[in-house]
Amino acid sequence: MKATCWMGKKHVEVRDVPDPQILNQTDAIVRITSTAICGSDLHLYNGFVQPMMKGDVLGHEFMGEVVEVGRRVQTLKVGDRVVVPFTIACGNCWQCRHDNWSLCENSNPNGALAEKALGHAASGAFGYSHLTGGFAGGQAEFARVPFADVGPLKIENGFSDEQVLFLSDILPTGYMGAEMCDITPGDTVAVWGCGPVGLFAIMSAYLLGAERVIAIDRLDYRLEMARKCRAETVNYETVESVSETLIEMTAGRGPDACIDAVGLEAHGHGPAYLYDRTKQAVGLETDRPIALREAITACRNGGTISVIGVYGGLVDKFPLGTIMNRSLTIKAGQCHVHRYMRPLLERIQNREIDPTLVITHRLPLSDAAKGYDIFLNKEDNCEKVVLHT
Ligand code: NAD
Ligand code: ZN
Ligand code: ZN
Repeated sequence: MKATCWMGKKHVEVRDVPDPQILNQTDAIVRITSTAICGSDLHLYNGFVQPMMKGDVLGHEFMGEVVEVGRRVQTLKVGDRVVVPFTIACGNCWQCRHDNWSLCENSNPNGALAEKALGHAASGAFGYSHLTGGFAGGQAEFARVPFADVGPLKIENGFSDEQVLFLSDILPTGYMGAEMCDITPGDTVAVWGCGPVGLFAIMSAYLLGAERVIAIDRLDYRLEMARKCRAETVNYETVESVSETLIEMTAGRGPDACIDAVGLEAHGHGPAYLYDRTKQAVGLETDRPIALREAITACRNGGTISVIGVYGGLVDKFPLGTIMNRSLTIKAGQCHVHRYMRPLLERIQNREIDPTLVITHRLPLSDAAKGYDIFLNKEDNCEKVVLHT
């Protein structure tokens, strides 16, 4: 089959690789019809999330048709149309039973490696480095889906691929980002990053009752997309201080909750940005927490910081004193996608949310390398690239 392979830093290639096979009797094989490139893929592409091996198959947002099932698969049959969550979960362990699917204790065969890096292992994930199990991803023609009775969501009501594809990751992620803010009526929520995850966080914050959402980015076309989602916007390149601007916009109090939808490759300007870039380049810090620091500084006393942007390791100049003295709460996580797929499918069906709004580019799978390039460099007003097989 054809698959998008990681070949080194800033180098992906669509190559011929062996077709996936059923390895466990709870696996299914899915013929992929649509897949997408995520901001998280850019962290792999840029070499920040490791370890990757030459030839690893990328991609964790995908859907398609079941073409084979293992003997113990009970709920899926050949021909079913499914969206597959990016996290892999067994459905039976303590964490799965507590609805914390991205922390499944049984799905990451490289748990020992993850324990060394993170203290404890998180779940397996498709196409997302050997720290999450080294599973082949879904920017491909086929994928092996473990625990097929647990993750894949059957699509039965005639939705188009593009309406439901993002249930695999970015829609639940943006939603979880907003949900972690514990929004109450009248709240103002600030969202750093107007990529697809940020846009879904904005839409979700309104769905969950926010009165105002303020979005921060530097790309005008993305700020315009945020305004279409009813957010007020701040271009961080045109203000002296984002935190002070937000505090002013909220009558001196600060946003009730702040969502970091940027992650470890944040941009910035001035000496602070130079400091982080330099320390990251020489390996003294793994991540650039520029948006996160601003979120912490801007947030009102007693407010919540919701971190859905991806971080990999250690950050510097982390304002712990601010968090402690001002009673801030930080919540974070890889999305517990399984928790949100069904309720969000209902919201799509009820037309409360239209996931297709974020799509700007549609390419054949064979053009995946071009897709990475356009998405990385935000060329041609790129917001989200969907790859069709
Ligand atoms: P993206 O690259 O399209 O968007 C990131 C946006 O952040 C860009 O528009 C960029 O201009 C903006 N940005 C950069 N520095 C900024 C700053 N200092 N302040 C404000 N904005 C800034 O990516 P995406 O697909 O929207 O993903 C966003 C983040 O979410 C990534 O880190 C990705 O890995 C992460 N993610 C997490 C999960 C999860 O489960 N937690 C799932 C999917 C994606
Ligand atoms: Zn993702
Ligand atoms: Zn589990």
